[in-house]
Amino acid sequence: MAEIWKGGPVAEAVYQEIRTRLSALDFVPYLKVIRLGEDPASVSYVRLKAKKARELGFRSEVEVYPEALPEEVLLERIRILNEEKELDGLLVQLPLPSHIRAERVLEAIHPLKDVDGFHPVNVGRLWSGGEGLFPCTPLGIIRLLKHYKVDLKGKEVVILGRSNIVGKPLAGLLLREDATVTVAHSKTARLPEVTRRAEILIAAVGRPHFVRPEMVQEGAVVVDVGVTRVEDRLLGDVHPKVAEVASALTPVPGGVGPMTVAMLMANTLKAALLRRNGAPR
Ligand code: NAP
Repeated sequence: MAEIWKGGPVAEAVYQEIRTRLSALDFVPYLKVIRLGEDPASVSYVRLKAKKARELGFRSEVEVYPEALPEEVLLERIRILNEEKELDGLLVQLPLPSHIRAERVLEAIHPLKDVDGFHPVNVGRLWSGGEGLFPCTPLGIIRLLKHYKVDLKGKEVVILGRSNIVGKPLAGLLLREDATVTVAHSKTARLPEVTRRAEILIAAVGRPHFVRPEMVQEGAVVVDVGVTRVEDRLLGDVHPKVAEVASALTPVPGGVGPMTVAMLMANTLKAALLRRNGAPR
């Protein structure tokens, strides 16, 4: 039976490191989250992020606007916040209403304040091997694997999913760790053959219980990123029977989820240090 690798203790270790580093600073890092509308999932994610930031001792504020806010007004607000000297980290909670072009919003945020790591400059730095701010969920997955002593160097890793939020940046980060990476998606032929090659299989598909035991190599490490609400339960992408084949498995909820928030806090501290101590332009 697979070991269950929880994210909570790993997130706690990240928070402890942040607290130690904060205590040596002569300023308070400042995070601002912008939310539009009242989508219940966004409301609860934003609340969680702001609360965690405050608990750690950051200055943390949330700006809430009506769903109908015009795109230009949002962009103008971002431009003002980019110039605000005290502000270290800025994120606009996704998804955005359909009249707002997410790429325009993400490109408007100053790369040095882009704690979500979605700005094209940060995407470029991730792939070119430079220093920058990188997406929180992929960073959290790498951190979780390292915590549980997985040596990524030379490992055959298959990522299921190629989104800009999870699959693609995760591939870039894994390459930086010297893993051998395959990114599979909805057009991938002979998917079970591909996934069975993986020593580490990472599922970010968003389809409950999509990964079945016959898709998994005996002894593989399986990371379940998927979260889908089905009635009152949160289900992952990985079928529970995979635990009979894998050597380790991250649970849903309680696996990758806590790591995403932890790495947002780590990114906020990193943004503060990069911007204030001289950063790549
Ligand atoms: P997304 O943008 O919907 O991307 C899903 C990916 O899965 C796409 O690349 C898609 O392929 C691929 N896919 C869909 N059906 C497939 C199939 N039948 N076979 C192979 N690949 C298939 O989703 P996302 O934003 O990456 O999120 C994925 C999941 O992770 C969701 O459940 C989300 O809620 C969860 N998530 C969790 C966290 C966390 O902190 N725990 C953070 C982010 C996301 P195509 O590109 O070909 O369409």
